[in-house]
Amino acid sequence: MKKMDWVSLGYIASYHFCLAIFLPLYFFYFSPSKTLIFSMIGLVFACGIGITAGYHRCFSHPAYKAHPLVESVLLFFGNLATQGSALRWSYEHRLHHAHVDTDEDPYSVTKGFWHAHILWLFKARPPIDDRIVSDLKRNPLIRFQNDYYLPLLIAQHVLVILFFGWVTNDYFGSFVFCYLLRSFFSHHTTWFINSLAHTWGEKNFSKEHSAVDNFIISLLTYGEGYHNYHHTFSNDYRNGIKWYHYDPTKWLIFILSKLGLASNLRRMNFEKIQFQLILEHKKELVKKLTQSFLDSKEDLIERVHKQADALTSALEDFIQKGRRYREIGKDLKEIKNHLKLEIRAVKDQLKFEWRNWDNLSNYIHKLKKPA
Ligand SMILES: [Zn+2]
Ligand SMILES: [Zn+2]
Repeated sequence: MKKMDWVSLGYIASYHFCLAIFLPLYFFYFSPSKTLIFSMIGLVFACGIGITAGYHRCFSHPAYKAHPLVESVLLFFGNLATQGSALRWSYEHRLHHAHVDTDEDPYSVTKGFWHAHILWLFKARPPIDDRIVSDLKRNPLIRFQNDYYLPLLIAQHVLVILFFGWVTNDYFGSFVFCYLLRSFFSHHTTWFINSLAHTWGEKNFSKEHSAVDNFIISLLTYGEGYHNYHHTFSNDYRNGIKWYHYDPTKWLIFILSKLGLASNLRRMNFEKIQFQLILEHKKELVKKLTQSFLDSKEDLIERVHKQADALTSALEDFIQKGRRYREIGKDLKEIKNHLKLEIRAVKDQLKFEWRNWDNLSNYIHKLKKPA
């Protein structure tokens, strides 16, 4: 039997137990004020952002660089979220990405939904391999938080309970809502990313891993529900790439960059995403045809490969010519004008190949199984 992490198990079990006792008891004798409810929601959100914008996108990947002031605030709320130090969290998260769905993935969903959600936390965890987080070990703020994680955690919780108890004039309410219930929400919403975001949703960008995209999970996880995209392009500071995708973490990072408080925001370029989508679509069509009983399936598979090649080379051509156009100086007007015409022709070719691709895909999807 694997060794257990009794401290983790004891802590998580006992605060859930206290919540199950004290929350009904509170409602039996009192009713929470609006200030208390909003304080709890604010704290849940701040802790969640501390994890997603701090622990996850800034430290684990790192998809952007935060100003030390921002790092300190994110570490403060990340610490309050009670999910271990940023160093350990990032170490385990880097293992998760590098070995997703295998035995070396600490919260592999292949061992079951509940393993990925919570049970993995109860198993004794191996020491941190410094080579995997050597960059983070050079950051004095991260070292400090890692060294004083527990005393900081205790001090923060005492201060939070006392502060909100004083603000609301309800110390018992502050204990139940701003500590117990807040911990419950901020834990389970993060854990959803390892469990739900690896089981319930669509694989839009890659079928090579279990991560899925799901808008509803994004609502609960501050934008981390676009997890299929995230596992496919993990260094992008965005998880939801469309402007309307609910990803408050992305919006916050973007605003911070405009205020000069975040820099080096990494984005996967549009072309690479398109190439990946064509590749995935091709795999899907080939799989469908391979599993079919059609006589002509070999011919169709060949057509899929050829059309995908034609489309990607037209896309590549378009990208390269566009890049050259941007690089040429304004003074070389004639060359620029000539290139402009070439780009127009390539664009038409690209549109033509996209149309052919869509027609072929629709044709394959409409094929019926022989009776
Ligand atoms: Zn994941
Ligand atoms: Zn990640």
